[in-house]
Amino acid sequence: MPKTFTIQDFFARFPDDQACLDHLMKVRFGEFQTCPKCGKEGRFARLKKLPAYSCPWCGHHIHPMVGTPFERSSTPLQKWFYAMYMFTTTRNGVAAKELQRQLGVTYKTAWRIGHELRKYMAIVDGDDMLGGYGRPIVEADKAFIGGKDKRGADDKTVVLGMVERKGDVLTRVIPNRRSENVIRMIRKYVREGARIATDDGRPFMDLKSWGYYHEAVNHLAKEWVRDDTHTNTIESFWAILKRGINGTHIWVSAKHLQKYLWEFEFRYNLRKQPHLMFDLLLLAFPRPSRARGD
Ligand SMILES: [Zn+2]
Repeated sequence: MPKTFTIQDFFARFPDDQACLDHLMKVRFGEFQTCPKCGKEGRFARLKKLPAYSCPWCGHHIHPMVGTPFERSSTPLQKWFYAMYMFTTTRNGVAAKELQRQLGVTYKTAWRIGHELRKYMAIVDGDDMLGGYGRPIVEADKAFIGGKDKRGADDKTVVLGMVERKGDVLTRVIPNRRSENVIRMIRKYVREGARIATDDGRPFMDLKSWGYYHEAVNHLAKEWVRDDTHTNTIESFWAILKRGINGTHIWVSAKHLQKYLWEFEFRYNLRKQPHLMFDLLLLAFPRPSRARGD
């Protein structure tokens, strides 16, 4: 078993905001760099009054937070880092209330941090296409997520899930369960020629005409598995997702559901290397195309 990253490890590695900023500078720009302005190479020095580093030769500034979720935030960097730690060590998700309590920020700030991190997790996780010739079967299935809205009316959102066995899951909110929506998503995310297993729902019945090897189990007739045709993998993802949404968040609006889906995708897709999740979030910050100078 890989060693788990404990809360002590977290505070040893990131004892304060300064350590977090140094980390960002190091992974995004390197300790030594060629100055984009004067072209000389050197070790940029931390400025006292700005979260920035300056060129030892010409004084040009590099702001390592530019282009990250922290860029326009007044929340201290260490709190952001701790929130990322929480997102990677939870099983069922992190509620805004819990972030508020643990970070000591307002509910509004906690809510915003949660959503920024969910969007960021989606970027880190990426959306590689699933299945294809010689690759494992892709299972596709619809789920109805949500429950009652604030007035108590039924308010479920349709989600299409696709998972390559032993591989990644992809989930997307779709406007309704009509065939055209289901097929459009599958064609976008599953390679032509892939084997696809589904239940016998109507929207999946046209898959063969789009160049997929499609097989369905007849859930109505209580047929769950036929040879290697089944939807058990995606069903187990739905179980994790529903436990998280219903247990942790209680109620998630259709408008924001996709962000929660990204969060659960991220953890599921890294399930075999849970110890790497945090580091991956800490390393992946895309570099801004041009560092802001001032
Ligand atoms: Zn310079």
